[in-house]
Order: sequence, then structure tokens, then C-alpha cells
Amino acid sequence: KAIETQGKYYLYFDKELKEDIQNEYDIKLMLNKAIIYGEFSINYQPQVNSKTGDVIGAEALLRWNTKKLGPISPAVFIPIAERTGQIVEIGYWVIERVFKDYESLKEKIGKNFRISINISAMQFNDENFLRRIKESIEKNKINTSYFELEITESLLLSGLKQVNEKLNELRKLGFTIAIDDFGTGYSSLSYIKQLNINKLKIDRTFIKDYPNNDDGEIADIITNISYKLKLDVIAEGVETEEQIEYLKRKGCYLIQGYYYSKPLAKDEFLEYLPLT
Ligand code: C2E
Ligand code: MG
Ligand code: MG
Ligand code: MG
Repeated sequence: KAIETQGKYYLYFDKELKEDIQNEYDIKLMLNKAIIYGEFSINYQPQVNSKTGDVIGAEALLRWNTKKLGPISPAVFIPIAERTGQIVEIGYWVIERVFKDYESLKEKIGKNFRISINISAMQFNDENFLRRIKESIEKNKINTSYFELEITESLLLSGLKQVNEKLNELRKLGFTIAIDDFGTGYSSLSYIKQLNINKLKIDRTFIKDYPNNDDGEIADIITNISYKLKLDVIAEGVETEEQIEYLKRKGCYLIQGYYYSKPLAKDEFLEYLPLT
């Protein structure tokens, strides 16, 4: 009986796996056309200083509304695009789109406002990355001091020296740099300390169940690390007042999460911003 159950389990698993692969292949083909079909767009999720209520920035988040299947979540297609390498061209599309949006955003954003853009490790490591981002800056007449780039710890697999050389160039161009999903990767603290970065982003997993488990403690630890390393710190995925208050007590004031707002289409985001 046990074997029979096991047999059934494996059969079931096999079928699921096959559907996944089929699905991944479909998504790959659909991604090839997504740019020319105009299926991508960008949403902006506000970042707020919980002490002052000021909107201090926004994260640009890619959205994919397919003609064939409707919206597909980035949590599904980004990992696929990373496996296939398509993320590199998609990433340049995102940068161009956000830089173009800046034209209408700049009227309403204050001096210290930053729009952050996710840069996948593969795009960061692309040999044309610096050249292409410079081209985009010039073409769109961008003031880079309004932009932040989000990278992840997985970058460090390509070596500290090489990563820092590129980070130094990006800092020279005027960008600030944040480490996204901090604490979920494998980097050592001694590495983080040597990186030319400005900010740590506490991953949603470290706050989402607060106060129902020990998660809050990790957010607390990351906040302490940021103070020790003289970095800014922001918590993402914050949904409740209780979480805001907890983070405030621990010294983490910058917040991105549904508590303030979901990611918004550009025009909605412009409406969200206070009048200046
Ligand atoms: P991320 O960069 O860590 O972005 C934060 C994610 O958390 C976003 O998911 C956002 O919608 C979600 N989030 C923010 N606040 C809350 C909250 O209070 N509750 C909940 N449940 N979720 C919240 P999203 O937009 O689905 O994106 C998922 C991931 O896809 C991103 O995680 C990022 O890794 C990737 N991604 C999105 N856009 C881009 C892009 O343009 N380029 C690259 N390379 N990756 C992207
Ligand atoms: Mg991010
Ligand atoms: Mg994140
Ligand atoms: Mg994430």
C-alpha cells in the first residue's frame, strides 16, 4: 500500500513537473514578443518615511499583461527570464521606460526623492551594461541623482573586486545603490561592509508574519547592521500599523508596503503624491 501511495505521488509529481516545463517554454516564447506587442508596463510603489509621512521615493515594478493569458506575475516570469537570459533586454526596456516616465514625474517629486529600478545580476554583469545605461541617461536627459539601482546579494558570486569596480562607476554616474531582499542571500557581512552601497532593503519575509513569530528580530538585526555600516535601511512588504510601530521602535523608518500603497500605474502614482 505504501508503495502504491508512493507510486501515485510520483505520477502526480511527474505530471505537474511536465506542465511546469511546458508552461516555462510557453512563457519563454511569449516573452520574446512581449516588448513588440507592448505588453509590458511599469508600476510605482511609494516609499514613505513613517516618522514624517513624506513620500521619499518609489520602486519601479514591471508588469506584464499578455494578450494570450492576461496578467502574469513578475514572481513567475522574472525567474524564467533570468534562466533564459531574456532579463537582460527586458531590463533595458525597464530602464528606458522609467527614464521616459521621469519626464512627467520630475515636476512632482522633491529634491531627495529617488526612483529605484531593479537590476538583475545577469544584466549587471552584461559587458554592455555601463555603456547602455550611459546612452539611456544621455538620450533621456536624466538627472541620475533621482535614481537608485537595486541589486541583490547573488551578484557577489562574481567577485567583490569586479562588482565594486562597476558599483564605483555607477556611483560616479550619480546613482545610489540598494541591496534588495537583504538577508535572503548568502553574502557574508564582511563582503557587504566592503561594498560601495547606500542602502539595505529588508525583505518582506522578515516582517510579514510579525507579531506572530520571531521575524521581527531579524528586521531588528538588519536595522542594527545598517546603522553600524552607516547605510540607510528600508523595510518592504509592510502591511499593518503594528509592523510600522515595531520597525519605528527599532529605528527603521523607511517603509514600502501595502500599508501605504500597492504599486500604482504612473498616473495613479502622480495622484498619490502630495501637491507641491
Ligand atoms: P522586489 O524587488 O523585492 O519587489 C518587491 C515586491 O514585493 C513587489 O512584488 C511588490 O509588489 C511586493 N510588495 C510590496 N509591498 C508588499 C506588501 O505589503 N505585501 C505584499 N504581499 N507584497 C508586497 P512584484 O511587483 O510582484 O515583484 C516581484 C519581484 O519581481 C520583485 O521583488 C523583483 O525581484 C522582480 N521584479 C519586478 N520588476 C522587476 C524589474 O523591472 N526588473 C527585475 N530584474 N526584476 C523585477
Ligand atoms: Mg526590488
Ligand atoms: Mg525586495
Ligand atoms: Mg523580493
